[in-house]
Amino acid sequence: MADFFCKNCGFKATSVAFLTGHPCSNHSLGPNKGKCELYEGGQKKQYTCKYCGFKSASIAGLAYHPCTRHPKGANKGKCSPAL
Ligand SMILES: [Zn+2]
Ligand SMILES: [Zn+2]
Repeated sequence: MADFFCKNCGFKATSVAFLTGHPCSNHSLGPNKGKCELYEGGQKKQYTCKYCGFKSASIAGLAYHPCTRHPKGANKGKCSPAL
C-alpha cells in the first residue's frame, strides 16, 4: 500500500483523505493552524528544498529546516521539498 506524506511536516498516512484531515504541526500559518497538505512528489531516498537546495533523507528533516532562500526572506520560513 502506498504511503502519502505531508509536504509541511512529513506526517505519513495511508490515505490522502486521512492526511488532509490531520492538523499540521508545521503549517505555514503556524503549528496546527491548518491541515496537512499532500506532497505530490512521491517517496524518494533524498529530498531537496526547492528554494535553497538543502537536502535531507526525510521530508520532516527538510520541512523543519530554516530556509536561507525562503521567498519571505532568509530564515523567515522553512525549507520546502521540490517535487
Ligand atoms: Zn503536516
Ligand atoms: Zn530551503
